[in-house]
Amino acid sequence: MSYLAKNYNRKKISFKYGKGSYLYSKNNVKYLDFVQGIAVNSLGHSHPKLIKTINTQSKKLWHVSNAFQIPEGEKLAKKLCHKTFADFVMFQNSGAEATEAAIKVARRYFYSIGKKNKNVILCVKNSFHGRTLAAIYASGSKKMTEGFGPKVSGFNHFSFGDHKSLKKKITKRTAAIMVEPIMGEGGIKEIPDWCLKELRKLCNKKKILLILDEVQCGISRTGSFFSFEKSKVKPDIVPIAKGIGGGFPIGAVLMNKKVASGMIPGTHGSTFGGNPLAMAVGNQVMDIVSSKKFLKNINYLSKYFLQNLKKIKDQYPNIIKSIRGRGFLIGIQLHIDQAIFIKKLMDNRLLTIRASENVVRVLPPLNVKKNELNKALKIISKVCRELN
Ligand SMILES: *Cc1c(COP(=O)(O)O)cnc(C)c1O
Repeated sequence: MSYLAKNYNRKKISFKYGKGSYLYSKNNVKYLDFVQGIAVNSLGHSHPKLIKTINTQSKKLWHVSNAFQIPEGEKLAKKLCHKTFADFVMFQNSGAEATEAAIKVARRYFYSIGKKNKNVILCVKNSFHGRTLAAIYASGSKKMTEGFGPKVSGFNHFSFGDHKSLKKKITKRTAAIMVEPIMGEGGIKEIPDWCLKELRKLCNKKKILLILDEVQCGISRTGSFFSFEKSKVKPDIVPIAKGIGGGFPIGAVLMNKKVASGMIPGTHGSTFGGNPLAMAVGNQVMDIVSSKKFLKNINYLSKYFLQNLKKIKDQYPNIIKSIRGRGFLIGIQLHIDQAIFIKKLMDNRLLTIRASENVVRVLPPLNVKKNELNKALKIISKVCRELN
């Protein structure tokens, strides 16, 4: 009997330990882990540098409160700002906290310049911004909000790709547009670069803010530090989380100078957010994943992997509908039932995870090795052959 609440549909498997791209089950079966905690373990399991960092920091200082200076946080914020569009950073503990803090920053900015009714956030229908109350209403998903009313107001929605409806929904009350540059839970659906550019132009024209949720697609996951970098667009606010802690819970909101002006002392806070232990880990992850050489390797290997996945798709057009994504944020959209496919992959010792639109997400660690990718390709090909 389990005393855990039943809010998850868990697979009947647990793991003893993990190393790099692999997980070892209770029964000593070795699995290739291409879930990695849902794009969280950027450096795989048990990375020696992260073990060393956490050991060293744990002997010095874990937690002090944001009532005091935290040099480790200053250091990580500086790195994040030097690497990106951002001028300021606010640390949290999770993705949902980061997206909600992003919403707070947007609303507070307009409040601070005297536009008190400008507080509606426009989001994509069936997007994903986390599971807290405001975040589920930001998602515009019936399934996620069912039974959790009363509705949190201040959100409006448009369908992915429906530019007409988006333009129509911008009113005097609109404060910001918030989108995922690549929808993760939504099925690895990419906003094209030209679209992101138009979105920026539209926001400028309407004098509203652009929030890009990089919680899943950010932190080098797609081969650039942020997935929107390729489009050259500069957002106003960017929530991050998942990949930045490499498995340690960290969230953050990055923002430009303009919107940061609203966040005066007392406007926001977090007990745990940015504590020295989390910040030590974040600094180490950041140093590794943001290096040019590391990014180059992701791009090289991901190109190889994607090319071969497309070959498998061409070989089994009745099984695979499309290959989606960039870097190591990859989706295999299927014609057949995703649950059967995921189960078969798992029987062959490859772990993957579902997303909407009948997509199987493939999320290797960013430091995955070529032979591990080859192993995954072999398993995917085998499962396609067996189900064909
Ligand atoms: C996972 C995710 C979140 C929520 O993160 P949590 O840490 O689970 O709260 C928010 N936005 C996006 C795009 C995500 O993928």
